[in-house]
Amino acid sequence: MRFLVLSDLHANWHALDAVLNDAEGQYEQIVCCGDLVGYNAQPARVLEWTRQNCVAVIRGNHDKVVAGLEDLEWFNEVAQVAARWTIQQLSEEQLLFLRELPKGPYSLPDFTMYHGSPRDEDEYLITGREAAASFDSIQLPLNFFGHTHLEGGFFQMRGRLGAIPQLKKNESETVLELHPDIAYLINPGSVGQPRDGDPRASYAIFDSEKRTVSLRRVSYPIDATAEEIYAAGLPDVLAFRLYQGL
Ligand code: ZN
Repeated sequence: MRFLVLSDLHANWHALDAVLNDAEGQYEQIVCCGDLVGYNAQPARVLEWTRQNCVAVIRGNHDKVVAGLEDLEWFNEVAQVAARWTIQQLSEEQLLFLRELPKGPYSLPDFTMYHGSPRDEDEYLITGREAAASFDSIQLPLNFFGHTHLEGGFFQMRGRLGAIPQLKKNESETVLELHPDIAYLINPGSVGQPRDGDPRASYAIFDSEKRTVSLRRVSYPIDATAEEIYAAGLPDVLAFRLYQGL
């Protein structure tokens, strides 16, 4: 089975569409590590696509805030404005869908998904120290997480920790061959708002038979997403940051 692994879609339809075109015919099932909405201007469309196409979705912190499960005050001002706007765009039924999303960890037979980290759905897993603590909490060797919007992650073999780097700017794919004695915490990166300095949409494909994870990047029409942000009256900075990938 081949899984398309997505995270942090953040209501960016054009980025999601580019990912689906790029990955077409190369997967059987789709999973999502959370944050369907927030920041960008197509929350209803991205939510409905997710609902109809993903076999497993867990909630992210933006999904929780928009669903009314967590207080807005934890967000910075720009994220608050976007969350308030997003609530207005969604139907009661769509808000209920967000409210009922399961929280990570969420396990399928071959891997476990988290939004933040194995220890806490809201933890940002960035440093080796955080990763080392996370490896103590995993059940399966293969794990996918999101939240940081940084493609890459960590691996651990006999207590030794290593980093999985993001792709170089001139690469569009790197294939990790999974080793049976190594545990992995892999971030597919963000579809809708990459923050690792590469503005291309980011995603992964896991092949459970070949035991490989491909990390991928694909360009998308950022102008189209930016225009929607301006038209919606959302803060301009949400468009500017997409061009920088920050
Ligand atoms: Zn996010």
